[in-house]
Amino acid sequence: MSLIVSKFGGSSVSDAASINRVADRIVAMKTQGHDVVVVVSAMGDTTDELIDLAEQVVGSSEPPQREMDILLTAGERISMALLAMAIDSRGVPAQAFTGQQAGLITDASHGNARIIDVTPGRITECLGTGSVAIVAGFQGVNPDANDVTTLGRGGSDTTAVALAAGLGADVCEIYTDVDGVFTADPRIVPTARRIERITSDEMLEMAAHGAKILHLRSVEYARRFGVEIHVRSSFSMKEGTHVITPSEEEEGEMEAPIISGVAHDRSQAKVTCVGVPDVPGAAARLFETVAGAGVNIDMIVQNVSVAATGKTDISFTLPASDVALVRAALSLLADELGYDDVLYQDDIGKLSLVGAGMRSHPGVSAKLFGSLRDAGVNIEMISTSEIRISVVTAADQLDTAVRAVHTAFGLDAAEVEAVVYGGSGR
Ligand code: ASP
Ligand code: MG
Repeated sequence: MSLIVSKFGGSSVSDAASINRVADRIVAMKTQGHDVVVVVSAMGDTTDELIDLAEQVVGSSEPPQREMDILLTAGERISMALLAMAIDSRGVPAQAFTGQQAGLITDASHGNARIIDVTPGRITECLGTGSVAIVAGFQGVNPDANDVTTLGRGGSDTTAVALAAGLGADVCEIYTDVDGVFTADPRIVPTARRIERITSDEMLEMAAHGAKILHLRSVEYARRFGVEIHVRSSFSMKEGTHVITPSEEEEGEMEAPIISGVAHDRSQAKVTCVGVPDVPGAAARLFETVAGAGVNIDMIVQNVSVAATGKTDISFTLPASDVALVRAALSLLADELGYDDVLYQDDIGKLSLVGAGMRSHPGVSAKLFGSLRDAGVNIEMISTSEIRISVVTAADQLDTAVRAVHTAFGLDAAEVEAVVYGGSGR
C-alpha cells in the first residue's frame, strides 16, 4: 500500500462525464488499497473565463488583486466539490478541502504567492478515516492577513508536489491530456518520443524554456524535496514520464542520454540598445533599470565596440508581455546613458536543446549549429548552461529549426506515438 498524490488538470475534469471518469479511476486506486489525495484544477477553461469576466467588469482598470484571488479560487472549489460527490456516490467516502483547509500556507503576493509551509493535519486525519481527500489546487492562505492567495497560472501542479512533500507521499502523479513529457512538442514534431525518465535538472531546463507540461515551480519544489513526479495521461492507462531527482552518486551511475529533448518558446521578445557608450557601468545602469521595472531577462549579447565611435550594441530577451514595462523604463534612461536607439522585436523564437549527457560529450553545439545551417535557419543569439544550449531564431523559422534539431540528434520515433487527448490549448 502506498500514499499517492494525484493531480488532475482542467482538461481532465472539464465536464460531468470527465469528472465521473476521474472518480472511477480514483475508486480503482482505493480498491487496490492505496491512500489517495487528489488535487484538482478548475474545470476546463474556467480560470480564463473568470479572468475575462473580471476584465469586463472593471474595464480598462486593473482588478484588485485580493478580490481577483478570491474570484479565481472559486474555479477549483467547484471541481473539488463535484469530484468528492462523484467518488462518494460510488460508495467510497471522500471529502473536499480548500487550499487553506489543507494547510497550504503562502506569503502575501496575490496572484503569484509562494508556499512557505505545508501543515496538512486535516488531510492526514481524513486519510486516517479511510476517506479520499480532494484538495483545491492553485490556492493557499496568507496567515498574516488570513487572506486567500493563488500560486500563479498552472499552480495546481505545485500544490500537488508540495502536498506530496508535506505528507511524505510515495509518488506525485500529474494527470494531463498527453501521455507524458515528449522529446519535443508533438504538435510541431509528430515523431516526438515519450521520455521514460528525466532528471529534475533537465525537466527544469525544459520547463523554464517553453515546455508547458509542468509548472516550473512544481519542478523546483520536487527537486528540492526529492519528490518523484509521474506525468501521465488521464485518458489512457499508459505509463508516462518519471521525473526523478537522483543523488550525486546515483547520477554518476546513471547512463544519461546525451540529449533529452528540444523545448521551444514563442513568448519572448528581443530588445536591442543601439550605440551604448562602451564605458564601465553602462551595462549595470541598463540592467538595473530593467530589473527596477520588475522584468526578468533571459539571454544577453553585447557586441564588440566599434573603435571609431567607442559605442556598442547590447541585446537581451525578455517575456514579450513585459515589453511595455521595459519601453517605459528605458525611455527615462535615454539621456543619462546616451544610446542612439532602442529596437523592439517580438517576432522571434527560441529553441533549447536539453540533456545532462552534454556535460561529458564534446561536439553537441557543433552538431546543433550544423543542423540549423543545413535547414537554412539563421541564429540570432546563443546562450548555454551546463546542460542546455539555446538559440534565438526568426519566429517563422522556429518550427523548421525544432524539427531539424530533433532529427539531427536521433530523437525521432519510428512511428507516431504522441496523442493529444483533450484540452483547448488556450
Ligand atoms: N486553474 C488554474 C489555471 O488555470 C490553476 C491550474 O490549472 O493549475 O491556471
Ligand atoms: Mg495546468
